[in-house]
Amino acid sequence: MAEIDVTLVPCLQDNYAYLVTDGSGLCAVVDPSEPGPVKKALAERGLTLTHILNTHHHLDHCGGNLALKEEFGAEVVGPGKDRGRIPGIDTGVGEDVPWQFGSHTVKVLEIPAHTSSHIAFVFDGKAFTGDTLFAMGCGRLFEGTPQMMWDSLSKLMRLPDDTKIYCGHEYTLSNGKFALTLEPKNAELQARMKDVEAMRAKGAPTIPSTMGLEKKTNPFLRPDSKELRATLGMENADTVAVFAETRKRKDSF
Ligand code: ZN
Ligand code: FE
Repeated sequence: MAEIDVTLVPCLQDNYAYLVTDGSGLCAVVDPSEPGPVKKALAERGLTLTHILNTHHHLDHCGGNLALKEEFGAEVVGPGKDRGRIPGIDTGVGEDVPWQFGSHTVKVLEIPAHTSSHIAFVFDGKAFTGDTLFAMGCGRLFEGTPQMMWDSLSKLMRLPDDTKIYCGHEYTLSNGKFALTLEPKNAELQARMKDVEAMRAKGAPTIPSTMGLEKKTNPFLRPDSKELRATLGMENADTVAVFAETRKRKDSF
């Protein structure tokens, strides 16, 4: 079976769209916020777009759908529970409605809270997590509760540690600065921040991350960390309460 290949396409201020090819002529774009940079990336590589995948309905993830669909006749695939808010949707998917990309079976995970029907696409060892899981961060709770987001993140944490994480935005540096306020003594976090600072100084993307690295450095996956709990003064609080307080502090960081 041909390998899946992923190309980052920076869009807008700090968004990433991703081109995914299967080596047999299929080419999908994940979360195209705008058509221009995607068309340029396709032309540079001599690719024709066959599919448009959306993790959720926000315009900085599907604003390019209609223009790209019109130009290439690409099939729009998105959360089946949110058909009304996904421009041009052809195929609704979910955990009960898996999806096939050529010979690759794509696992769809329903991970609500940033929006009520947010999904992730998992292609052999690569997870497209939209605005639910970021490198060292997580999305804001626009349409869900802390419990919902914790359940969604927990679902992603059950993916293997070597799963590559492709998220919707380049927020890594500011996310890491926040993380250090909660766990200043976390040696893995300190080391990662050095790497991230060097990458951003060169203008290089910090994506993809891996699930294993996120578990060690992302404060939103670490409500059971002793140091994080001590910083918050919540040594004996329950997991979701610690997660909720972490999210609340990030909202005003
Ligand atoms: Zn969003
Ligand atoms: Fe976004």
